[in-house]
Amino acid sequence: MGKRILVLAEEKDGKLRNVSLEALTLAKQLSDGGEVQAVLFSEQAAAFQAQIGQHGAGLLFQIAGEAWKSYTPDAYAGALVQLIEQVQPDVILAGHTAIGKDVAPRVAARLQIGLISDCTGVDVQGGELVFTRPIYAGKAFQKKVFREGTVFATLRANNFAVAEGGGAAKIVPFEPTVPDLRTIVREVVRKTAGTVDLSEAKIIISGGRGVKSAEGFRPLEELAAVLGGAVGASRGACDAGYCDYSLQIGQTGKVVTPDLYIACGISGAIQHLAGMSNAKVIVAINKDPEAPIFQVADYGIVGDLFEVVPLLTEECRKA
Ligand code: FAD
Repeated sequence: MGKRILVLAEEKDGKLRNVSLEALTLAKQLSDGGEVQAVLFSEQAAAFQAQIGQHGAGLLFQIAGEAWKSYTPDAYAGALVQLIEQVQPDVILAGHTAIGKDVAPRVAARLQIGLISDCTGVDVQGGELVFTRPIYAGKAFQKKVFREGTVFATLRANNFAVAEGGGAAKIVPFEPTVPDLRTIVREVVRKTAGTVDLSEAKIIISGGRGVKSAEGFRPLEELAAVLGGAVGASRGACDAGYCDYSLQIGQTGKVVTPDLYIACGISGAIQHLAGMSNAKVIVAINKDPEAPIFQVADYGIVGDLFEVVPLLTEECRKA
């Protein structure tokens, strides 16, 4: 029997997040002829109506208004609880983004429904949904089946295909009761405006303590600009003050799954690997041939990053 799946779509800088398109595509596949619906907190739902429809949703619930202009846990969770009670979906999908991973457990706890976070795969086996998620900092994978009731799952970015094929979604305004708000956002200060979002980037050029200074990140930024990628960092580089902590990748930083990860001057500590070892192709540039990063790298270059990275940039410019 077909499933009803609700997708929490997210807008960022005037665009839908790629992981939301992944979630919509997955919802379409899993719905088995059932219904895919999306919810978007935005004043601009009409701008995304076609795209959300093309990626699989027939209905788009728009939640707009002062209380939902910026993310706050109380406002978003309160609204989603009300919508889910009305729509009664079998499955709710969201990206494992800052918002998704914060709001999903709150909603699941309030509704007493299942929660599975940070999924990297979802299969259908014998009519049941089997969710795969990494555990022990990516060293093992856990498979989970929910046999009864509703489940809320968050999806790790860049792990699911994006496909088009539907028409435009019908917009349905949804006006939840505004819950008691314990926090109000007064101002949003962005540190990385205009750059590629690290958590969804397809290409990441990452620097470690080996870059030696903030200035040492410039060659990496140039390569990232040529490849249309984002710049990341190890905690070693962040702790040394070479870059902002928002760039940190790893167990206590961001978890990324790009198509290409170029690690420059990073030793490959287990805590760093926890954040990037699922990248599709890993390239390591390190002057120490014994550096552990080479054990997970698909391609390794033993050399000085300040010589290798500019050469790569030059070659990529020609391509
Ligand atoms: P180093 O280990 O100092 O490595 C620098 C590398 O650069 C060396 O391999 C060296 O050979 C190479 N190098 C130097 N000069 C050059 C050059 N000119 N050209 C090429 N190569 C060069 N770390 C994270 O990254 N992310 C996390 O989320 C994280 N969380 C942690 C959580 C906990 C609880 C703990 C205890 C640690 C955590 N760490 C994390 C820290 C982690 O253990 C390592 O200390 C850190 O990853 C090391 O950073 P690094 O590889 O940049 O530095």
